[in-house]
Amino acid sequence: MDLFFIEFRDPLFSIIVFFAIIFIITFFSYWWGRYRRTQDSRHLDRFLRQFKALPSKDELQVLISSGELSEKSWLLLANAYYKNGENEKSIEIYNEILNVGSRTNAKETMFLLGKTYFKAGFLERSKQIFLEILKSSPRTPQALHYLLLVYEYMRDYNAALEVLEPLDELDEDTSLEKTYLLTLQTLSDMEMPQEQKCEKLVEIYEKYHALTYIIFEYLFRTDPKKAWQHLDLSKSEILSEVLWRCDVKELNLDIIATNSYLRELYSARGDLKLAKGSTVFEFDILIKLAGKANATLGFEYICDNCKSVSPFAFSRCSACHAIDSARVGLSLNKDYTKGMYEENNSFQ
Ligand SMILES: [Zn+2]
Repeated sequence: MDLFFIEFRDPLFSIIVFFAIIFIITFFSYWWGRYRRTQDSRHLDRFLRQFKALPSKDELQVLISSGELSEKSWLLLANAYYKNGENEKSIEIYNEILNVGSRTNAKETMFLLGKTYFKAGFLERSKQIFLEILKSSPRTPQALHYLLLVYEYMRDYNAALEVLEPLDELDEDTSLEKTYLLTLQTLSDMEMPQEQKCEKLVEIYEKYHALTYIIFEYLFRTDPKKAWQHLDLSKSEILSEVLWRCDVKELNLDIIATNSYLRELYSARGDLKLAKGSTVFEFDILIKLAGKANATLGFEYICDNCKSVSPFAFSRCSACHAIDSARVGLSLNKDYTKGMYEENNSFQ
């Protein structure tokens, strides 16, 4: 039993006490380090969380009215949110600046608010803002341009065409806007018979020589004969996708034979053998493959004005709102439909 009792002066006792102290110190320093790490992490989380959510309306009002940040700083912050696509936050800031801020930049702030409402899809609110700006400052072309856009997106083409008048008075070139609106108005007219619609579109095209894609896409879909008859061959490239998808029964061989781009396009598709090669890389490969590989053409559209890319054809760029600025880009893709037809045929 004496073995279990160590005397106070025993050197073994000192060693045990020594190791016990080391153990306690190590344990507390480990625990303290862990506690600090957790606290730091929580503090950082709390700090970062405040950037994820905008202050509430009341907090924002207090912050803006306190003047701790200048109005310009708030405008820069709202613009950063706008560019990031966080339109809701941007709208809240603009609204609070208008409620609390000085009236010196009210018109500019209202314009930015109208733009943000438009981008966020609140067309009615955006319209009201631009109308309010124009009530006090009718000679503001930027607001008129946006009001026109709002009416266009609301499909109120008559109202949009009315906006062209004050723009004309301000010496703004509105011919392309007018052509575009007339084309949209014709296409959306539910009461106009299809034949009359085609006539009107041809008339618009002959007069303005613009908007080839939107006009000929409709003509090739509804009246291919008329489309071939009025097709401006120098604009064949922008219509590549429409021509590529044109039914083989609707092809006008006489016209195709007269134009090198069309000869190469339909030789690449495999309908004709009128070209042995092409300066267009994608056509050249498809002509040389002669249907031996499961390949087809892919299309994308690039805005010449802002360089944004879309997989769909457009007449007005959704990014920069330029009209008729699209350029077609070609690519070689796997032909899924070809495989599908072969599979379907295999069941017959
Ligand atoms: Zn663009």
